[in-house]
Amino acid sequence: MNNERSVQAFKEARRLMPGGVNSPVRAFRSVDMNPIYMEKGKGSKIYDIDGNEYIDYVLSWGPLILGHADDQVIDFLKETAEKGTSFGSPHVLETKLAELVIDRVPSIEVVRMVNSGTEATMSALRLARGYTGRDKIIKFEGCYHGHGDSLLIKAGSGVATLGLPDSPGVTKGVAENTITVPYNDLDSIKLAFEQFGGEIAAVIVEPVAGNMGVVPPQPGFLEGLRAVTEDHGSLLIFDEVMTGFRVDYNCAQGYFNVTPDLTCLGKVIGGGLPVGAYGGKREIMEQIAPEGPIYQAGTLSGNPLAMAAGYMTLSQLGQDNYTAFKNIADRLAEGYTQAAEKYSIPLTVNQAGSMIGVFFTDQDVVNYDTAKSANLDYFKQYFKAMLEQGISLPPSQFEGLFLSTAHTMDDIEATIKSAENSFRSMAK
Ligand code: PMP
Repeated sequence: MNNERSVQAFKEARRLMPGGVNSPVRAFRSVDMNPIYMEKGKGSKIYDIDGNEYIDYVLSWGPLILGHADDQVIDFLKETAEKGTSFGSPHVLETKLAELVIDRVPSIEVVRMVNSGTEATMSALRLARGYTGRDKIIKFEGCYHGHGDSLLIKAGSGVATLGLPDSPGVTKGVAENTITVPYNDLDSIKLAFEQFGGEIAAVIVEPVAGNMGVVPPQPGFLEGLRAVTEDHGSLLIFDEVMTGFRVDYNCAQGYFNVTPDLTCLGKVIGGGLPVGAYGGKREIMEQIAPEGPIYQAGTLSGNPLAMAAGYMTLSQLGQDNYTAFKNIADRLAEGYTQAAEKYSIPLTVNQAGSMIGVFFTDQDVVNYDTAKSANLDYFKQYFKAMLEQGISLPPSQFEGLFLSTAHTMDDIEATIKSAENSFRSMAK
């Protein structure tokens, strides 16, 4: 594979930006490679600046559920941009996107648009704390909710201990208010509530974890969270930044039929432009300024371009797309599993809607510890071999693959064939 131009582009970028990138995972550090510079995308394909073509399963880390450069999204963006990119005053596209979101997300009666998933989770936590008058929150090991201080926290040893900062710059004071427990472990959460119950403002959870690879909730887990938060007067926040409109037409909460108090969204609802949103029960959301005292604002929040891309993306999604995602994901999982068996490569595949987690381990992957049992050396070899064959995957064992409505069964068969070739070379 010729990647001379990418190598040169990265060299220049490294002089100017930390690690040469604007978001760490793009630097390909976890696969010890030079990142690829992309030039354009169309449908399920993406093209780099050296002219290589790939079937893309990164899809800008999730947003592009219709594939790259969807015609209707691009046309609507052009039409909207010609009228101006931002007004700093209300406009009707905000209402149109809000209507679609409220119509499809069971927990959302009222919604506020922001500019990223990070902003959505930070704002939802402030709201939960302001509304309950409590300071502590509970999150799960291996769940990522953006880079807000309260959420960049790792648990100390043992269950239900107070958190330790995961990054320099997060103060101990902030970390002390974040409790971290293992995913899919209701006993731990009950223990945490026994210890800190009256102080806990909210539990925040990815209803399908997507940031330790893809890890679905075990039966009863989300229902258990709903019950325990209700018992203790705490709020349940679903971070559906990744799962929103990916797991199901009505998001993960619709699929699992568990309704949180607040929901965070991002990625798909921006159709490839910078968007986040948080929403929930009217009574809670109306505590936000200007209706209530809890402050949150944004110069470019709800800007016309982001609203246009989000609106045209959600407008094109129907229930049938999710049936198709399941069929495609099932075939991919089946093909991978057969290929891995053939070459005795340890492999576990997890699925949820259009999200697929491929782990190089024999263990069931149900939480961060089991996700970490994956063989990272195998992952690196697989990643490189797939890239060489024109398959673009997220460059980390702990990220899932995304499907778009533009992915065809031909794409999937080509991907399975490439996986088989990769496993064969890894088995040598
Ligand atoms: N929550 C979840 C579940 C995410 O997956 C992400 C991003 N991958 C975020 C929050 C943060 O979103 P953003 O990168 O847009 O700030």
